[in-house]
Amino acid sequence: MSDRRDVRTTCPRDCYDACGALVRVDGDRVVHVRGDPDHPVSRGKLCRKCTLAYNGVFLDPAARLTSPLLRRGPKGTGTFAEVSWEEALGVVADRLGAIIGEEDARTITYSHYTGSFSLLSYFFPMRLMRRLGATEVAPDTICNDAGHTALTYVYGTSLEGFDPRTAADARCILVWGANPSASAPHQHEDWLPSAPGAVVVVDPVRTPTAEQADLHLQPFPGSDAALAFGLIHVLARDGLVDEDFLARCAIGWEELLDLAAPCDPAWTQSRSGVPAADIERAAHLYGSGPSLLWIGQGLQRQPTGGNVVRSVASLPALTGNLGRSGGGFLYLNGFGNRGVDEDYLSGADQVPDVPEAVSHMDLAAHLEDPARSRAFVCWNVNPAASCPEQRRLRRALEREDLFTVVADLFPTDTVDLADVVLPAASWLECDDLVVPYFHRAFSAQVKAVEPMGQALPNSEIFRRVAVALGLTEAPLLEGDDEIIARVLAASDTGLDFPGLAERGTVWTPADRPVVQFADLRFPTPSGRVELASASAAADGHGLLPRPTADERPTEGRLRLLSPASSWSLNSSFSNDLRVVQRSGELTLSLAASDAGELALTEGALVRVSSAAGSLVVPVHITDAVPAGVGLIPKGGWPKLRPDHSNVNALTCAQSSDMGASTSIHGLEVSVVAVGTGPQS
Ligand code: SF4
Repeated sequence: MSDRRDVRTTCPRDCYDACGALVRVDGDRVVHVRGDPDHPVSRGKLCRKCTLAYNGVFLDPAARLTSPLLRRGPKGTGTFAEVSWEEALGVVADRLGAIIGEEDARTITYSHYTGSFSLLSYFFPMRLMRRLGATEVAPDTICNDAGHTALTYVYGTSLEGFDPRTAADARCILVWGANPSASAPHQHEDWLPSAPGAVVVVDPVRTPTAEQADLHLQPFPGSDAALAFGLIHVLARDGLVDEDFLARCAIGWEELLDLAAPCDPAWTQSRSGVPAADIERAAHLYGSGPSLLWIGQGLQRQPTGGNVVRSVASLPALTGNLGRSGGGFLYLNGFGNRGVDEDYLSGADQVPDVPEAVSHMDLAAHLEDPARSRAFVCWNVNPAASCPEQRRLRRALEREDLFTVVADLFPTDTVDLADVVLPAASWLECDDLVVPYFHRAFSAQVKAVEPMGQALPNSEIFRRVAVALGLTEAPLLEGDDEIIARVLAASDTGLDFPGLAERGTVWTPADRPVVQFADLRFPTPSGRVELASASAAADGHGLLPRPTADERPTEGRLRLLSPASSWSLNSSFSNDLRVVQRSGELTLSLAASDAGELALTEGALVRVSSAAGSLVVPVHITDAVPAGVGLIPKGGWPKLRPDHSNVNALTCAQSSDMGASTSIHGLEVSVVAVGTGPQS
């Protein structure tokens, strides 16, 4: 007899959309996963990568890790033996216990990110790692810490964004350095097109979102700060600066306007490549607000990313686009603005003092040093694919004396380098909570089926590791149900987990959109918007942002961008054959003029080289990128490519100006036809 039912749940990926999903279950088996037609964002449709992978590798026992594994061969070969949980945990406890016994716990390094971004999956394992006194790899240094730092200087927070529902009142939405067509597909397909206001996109690449915008500004990468000052110049010149608002709510605005005085449209065009007429038009569209500003995360992944975000983020304050519906900016909506206590979830309330974190930019150097790193523990992350200095990092991970434990769903490159592999349950196999970082909502991730094989939720894995280490303090063993109940009780959903599970997603608050900074109080030292920031100056960044533009690449070199594609989410989904087939070959996209100078035709094989390494790829000639720019999308598992590399073979460990964060979009590379240049 058929026992078919639909389970309403939520996609927990690192994605703006946080789609609602319906999982058709027959007995103990998932039949298919599709979008929830009643969900306000997904409207019955998941993105194409998830549609394939959630009905592909996520359900495929041959693709999943279904048993604990112990290494039996050389590191990196993926040669393992299946063992019981008891045996695997015994080895973990022995090896980590020995390090802890020598009072050397800080040499246990742990890395985690957003492979699953539901609350328990992301935070709970941190409780144990903090309790041990291990060293964290600061998660956001691989992504967006420069922007967080910059916005904290200006507004006191980066985590209080506009409520997307207020787009109904906006006359303009300025999307700066984000590509929703790849990283927020439903905002690209639904939210932006249905917004009544004009859409202006600033992106060096002519993305599908840029193509559908009312106006696309295409600055050369690294010139965003100059472009922002060009807009400020026009706003000031044409009376679109709100001096009443600034006098009440901001400091440093007069000095900032002085800095913008020389940045007229002709100057800005010369620095950014954006036509002066488009600069004027964008300033007028934005300045006649109310206007929303979506500050993308790609924007700040460059050597001066912090200065860029400080410059761009001054626009809402200068135009008085704060404290009113239809005005404001968004970088992220943090968990805290829906009552989620991250310190409780992560154990920071129990163990506030921990060793200084390591940046992802320094991970290879850190892990290759036995004095700093004797063990490495990972969950929700695949650093062998996603970190810079890929080849150097791999050599560090091949250290025989580095004891590595990886919890994952799939046999990634990082798993291949582990000593112990712990099989993790998927989002379809455990209850959790999803707190979207774009919409102000709260969602249930609902268990549809039992975990595959012997897989376990991250939380249960780390409870078992704690017990194996002889640690039985209550926070380390707190159950998922109890944590979920406590988080929901502190939220304003008014729901328990069964209630939330029935609804799937609820808006918070449900009855009205939130006006960002409605009280015009800002959590900065002065309580005002700090366009001039003494904190930034004390940290060596200058009192004010500066109208700078990076030097263009030297003759014969390209500035490389490696953004997300619509077929990948960091390194996730790269092992699903249908996703890989549809996403096509990894290519270097470049302008026809650059191809001509290099005597390259479509499909020609080139060697792309940086200080970190090289990569051989075919070229794709396109007018979507400006001259002087190359584009290779991020993602892909190195082990599944012929040369065992992805774009991170090229990325260097250079940090951005703030937050010790990645500057991946500032990389310069040389390009030569294969067979004509130096080999690496
Ligand atoms: S990755 Fe994003 S767009 Fe795709 S299904 Fe998940 S939430 Fe939706």
